[in-house]
Amino acid sequence: MRLLFVALATVALQARDPFTMAGRSIAPGQRLDFDLAIPAGAADPATYIPVTVLHGAEPGPVLALTAGIHGYEYPPILALQRLLKGTNPGRLRGTLIAVRLAHVSAFESRTPFVNPFDRKNLNRVFPGRAEGTQSERIAHAISQEVIARCDRHVDLHADDGAEWLDAFGGIYGGKLAAAQYEASKEMGVAFGFRNVVTYAVDTRQQLDSGRSCNRQAVAMGKPTVLVEIGENGRADEAWVASLASGLENLLRVLKMMPQAPTPPRADLRWFSGTSGAASRHTGFFAPVSVSGRFVKKGDPIGSVTSYAGEALETITSPVDGYLLYGLTGPAVREGETVVTIALPAPAPLR
Ligand SMILES: [Zn+2]
Repeated sequence: MRLLFVALATVALQARDPFTMAGRSIAPGQRLDFDLAIPAGAADPATYIPVTVLHGAEPGPVLALTAGIHGYEYPPILALQRLLKGTNPGRLRGTLIAVRLAHVSAFESRTPFVNPFDRKNLNRVFPGRAEGTQSERIAHAISQEVIARCDRHVDLHADDGAEWLDAFGGIYGGKLAAAQYEASKEMGVAFGFRNVVTYAVDTRQQLDSGRSCNRQAVAMGKPTVLVEIGENGRADEAWVASLASGLENLLRVLKMMPQAPTPPRADLRWFSGTSGAASRHTGFFAPVSVSGRFVKKGDPIGSVTSYAGEALETITSPVDGYLLYGLTGPAVREGETVVTIALPAPAPLR
């Protein structure tokens, strides 16, 4: 009897705690789908954030995946659905917090870039405010309920309408994220995309001005990755499938699933930060090309004509680099960046 009692006590001590979130409790090996409620603000309505928690049967890291910060970016939203459908919490180590759709009002109204009520870019208002506008209230909830609760974070994006993009992983290093850099790098290469961009966060100003969801994770000391795949507001199956398998591989890399991970590809292109080229005029923009490519300083990137059809300027690259994403045209405003140029790095930033 005494032996049996000791054995039972040991089992009790080793039992894994439930994961609690926003007043819910998820037992080990279980899945829970629920909505994080966002109350109404002074000038705009209440909303909600659909969240799924898979609380693994075994201990491990808490990984947060956020999709739909921009509601018109469909491949990440669909890929996350697919990952959740195919992941058995009974086999999972650790805990997966999936923000299935961070920005419901933008999704439902098919509004690219901004919130339909306050016209703010949700990805520039972190950490948000509990009493702010709808974008700020959503950011506040994600900061407090999701990013603060995780050990690692990945924010999933695509390019919206009239934008082209070559898929990449963005990893965060620099003075304010040095301690998280190796973990961020491990995650950033797990997706199997050829392009990897390191963003150095060296100053408070870089961290604070127009803070993104990724930079909120940096501010909270969490390794974080930006993932971008898909363009022109489309939801092509190839992008959804690629991202879903990248997410599955991430779970393997983090040992949250038992299968052996696919190692990082041998032909990775490393970049350190980005530059950009802007239009000096409002009018019609016609890019030279709408796919990733290397350019030299001075190479033409596109041309701008007035609404009357007169040639206004040829935009050239200010640097040697790799055109990573940009506008497809034709609409462009004075001062707007038409292309983002990744700066080649000889080796990964340490
Ligand atoms: Zn986005």
